[in-house]
Amino acid sequence: MNIILFGPPGAGKGTQAQFIVKKHNYFQLSTGNLLRDEIKLKTSIGSEVEKLISNGKFASDQTVNILLRKSITNLKFRDRIIFDGYPRNVDQAKNLQLILGEFDQTIGHIIFLNVSRDIIEKRIMGRVTCEKCHMTMNKFFNKEQIDLHPCGKEFLKKRKDDNLDVVVARYDTYMKLTNPVLDFYSKNANFTKIDGAAEIEQITYKINDILRV
Ligand SMILES: [Zn+2]
Repeated sequence: MNIILFGPPGAGKGTQAQFIVKKHNYFQLSTGNLLRDEIKLKTSIGSEVEKLISNGKFASDQTVNILLRKSITNLKFRDRIIFDGYPRNVDQAKNLQLILGEFDQTIGHIIFLNVSRDIIEKRIMGRVTCEKCHMTMNKFFNKEQIDLHPCGKEFLKKRKDDNLDVVVARYDTYMKLTNPVLDFYSKNANFTKIDGAAEIEQITYKINDILRV
């Protein structure tokens, strides 16, 4: 069955998607990658999209639909697609249902990796790296590990490239855009919200559980 995987930047969506691809033999469909492939292969769609992008514009919904259709009708991927970063709005969500329905497929699971703004902030602000052994820890989440760190606390330094404003702005933009889509899907019985603040392994375990049903 097909899956939609959502999650704001920093929720670990990429890691979990990779896991599903490997363990459950799925095809990860991101419209960004589909468009990049067309450009790389120099198809007519590709050169059209390349022109748009170089003019600061985006690929039209129509173009994206053509590519979506191509993947959905590819028998190799039948009922094995993880939609990653799509749909971005309610129109696209309705459109996806239409296309899938046309080819007698459905969305089996809609998974939202939820992570709060507060956690995202703490992940960045709390990150420290040991200058001696280069281990990275977080003063909010790994207190004990930091206290017991063998190199000594004086070597633990905050990284300078941690740009909080940029990350928080990306998070806010994502949530604002995605909220209507979440509202649209949250009424479905196959919608699951997972706590993205949990450990990576715990999240993987939950996803495994969901996919086994
Ligand atoms: Zn160290």
